Order: sequence, then C-alpha cells, then structure tokens
Amino acid sequence: MSLLVVGSVALDTIETPFGKAERIVGGAATYIALAASYFTKNIAIVSIIGGDFPKEMLETFKKKNIDLSGLEILPQEKSFFWHGRYHLDMNTRDTLETQLNVLTKFQPKVPEQHRKAEHVMLGNLDPKIQMAVLEQMKQRPKWIVMDTMNYWIENTLEDLEKVIAQTDVLIINDEEARMLAQTYSLTKAARWILEKGPKYVVIKKGEHGALLFGKDKVFVAPALPLEEVFDPTGAGDTFAGGFIGYLDAVQNYDFEHLKNAVIYGTVMASYCVEAFGPEKLLQLNQNAIQERYQILSDLVRFDHVYPF
Ligand code: AMP
Repeated sequence: MSLLVVGSVALDTIETPFGKAERIVGGAATYIALAASYFTKNIAIVSIIGGDFPKEMLETFKKKNIDLSGLEILPQEKSFFWHGRYHLDMNTRDTLETQLNVLTKFQPKVPEQHRKAEHVMLGNLDPKIQMAVLEQMKQRPKWIVMDTMNYWIENTLEDLEKVIAQTDVLIINDEEARMLAQTYSLTKAARWILEKGPKYVVIKKGEHGALLFGKDKVFVAPALPLEEVFDPTGAGDTFAGGFIGYLDAVQNYDFEHLKNAVIYGTVMASYCVEAFGPEKLLQLNQNAIQERYQILSDLVRFDHVYPF
C-alpha cells in the first residue's frame, strides 16, 4: 500500500449561511490525505506552504501517518489562500478571492522514497504540475486518479488533455464534465472522456450523488440525504480521498471494487460537509464509516415485487 497525493495545502476563509470561518486549514491535498488516512497508512503529500501555516496541523498530519517529506515550506512566504462564499442552496458558491502565494513558486519534488508509490492522486492543480509529478515516478503507478476544475478546462485545455490521457480515473463534477466534452448529456460526456484515455470516469453531482462510467458499464450512487449541510468545502476532494484510499487498501480494480470505492468516497464526503473545513474528518472512526456505508447500501437496495 502506498499513496502519493499532490494538491494544494491551504488556508481558507469560508462563508456559509451558518457562519464564517477565517483562515482555517484547507486545500485539496489536505482533504484527500485526511480522508484516505482512514483506509491506508502509507500516504505522502507533495505540496507547498508558507510560514503562516499552523504547525499543529503538520503534527496532526504526522499523527495520521501522512508523510510530509514532499511538503515544501517557504518560511518567508504565505500559503495559498482561498476565500469562498456559499449561496443559500449550498450547491453553488462564489470565489471571492484566490491568492496563489507559494503556489506560484511550486515546482513539485517527489522525494526519492515515494517515486515508486503504487497509487497517485492528482488533486486539482495546474495540469503542468500534475504532469511534472507523473514524470518523476520511477515506474508507472498501478492506478492514477485525477481531479480538475473549470479554470484548467478554460485556460489550459491542451495540457489538461495530456494528463487525462495518462490517468486511470478522472473524477470531475457534472458542470465540468459538460464543459470539457461540450455536451449536455453526462452519458455522452463520459464517453467522450473515456475516449481520451481513462478507464473510468466518476461524475459527481453534489447532493444528487455520483455516476461511475466504464467503457460498457455504469453505476449510480446516491448521496446521503443529510438534514444539515454545514460547509461543502472539500467535499469533492474528500470523495476522491475516500475513493483512492479504499483502492490503495484493496488493490483491486474490478467493477465491484470500484463501486465500493465510490460508496466509500460518498460516505467520507457526507461527513466532511457536516462541519467547517476538515474538522469532522479529524474525528471519524471505522464504526462511523461502516454505519453510513450500511445506510447507503440500504438506500438503494430493493426487491422485485410485482402483482402479476
Ligand atoms: P472543493 O470544495 O472540493 O472544490 O475543494 C475546496 C478546496 O480547494 C479549498 O480548501 C481550497 O483551498 C482549494 N482550492 C480552491 N481553489 C483552488 C485552486 N485554484 N487551486 C488549488 N486549490 C484550490
């Protein structure tokens, strides 16, 4: 088992209808690694932070067996900062501010001991950085999973398509899939993406769940119907962390295992949204995870009952 995670490690200010949290820990790699840590113990982050990043969080990562040898610290600089505000429906948000700060200097260096990682999770970042990580791997990882966002689709499509061609699974949300494939139909968008190289594509639909597409297979996973969503920040990354963390643990990529990876991703995301930032992800245990797995499983189980 070994998982290499590349992505932002950030400070976020988040506003939701329930309140505001200022300069709390965030970033795609943070959510991915924390979620994956419930499934696998050999995780390393490749990222960059400034001197303003809280030291206690670094200790928390280490306690969760998350290796930080690939986390560059520039003490005189500021960490990547993102400020977002959610609308009342919690499905949509505005980015009020993005300060790239240290990310402008980020040239990822994968430490020697992680260049043979079995699994690589490419969090949402400039596709050039994602590619630079793949190029440093000594052998082709067993499975490469990637995430992206509209900004890279709009501005760096050529680079993005090169990374997509190298990956086994693209995890993307519905609007981004439509934008990438230039079609409204998610089924057509998935087929378009699969033709670019990935073996599978996961299309996330927020509170409406996720779709897993293979070349000739589809699986539909609901989201957990939650009464209260407190802060959706990081839900997508947390989903990706649960997904790849599970695969790193089981080392099996048949369709049944991929379905389970989607369900475990969904379970982790359902916990993530229940508190500001990654707070809830720090307090979970196996019982809590299994409990929601069971709820999801019951949600979609039905027997054939017909009067004739
Ligand atoms: P999600 O809600 O899954 O889209 O992820 C939110 C996290 O992504 C936040 O913690 C942000 O720090 C981080 N983030 C937002 N914009 C960017 C960006 N342009 N590049 C890298 N990370 C970002």
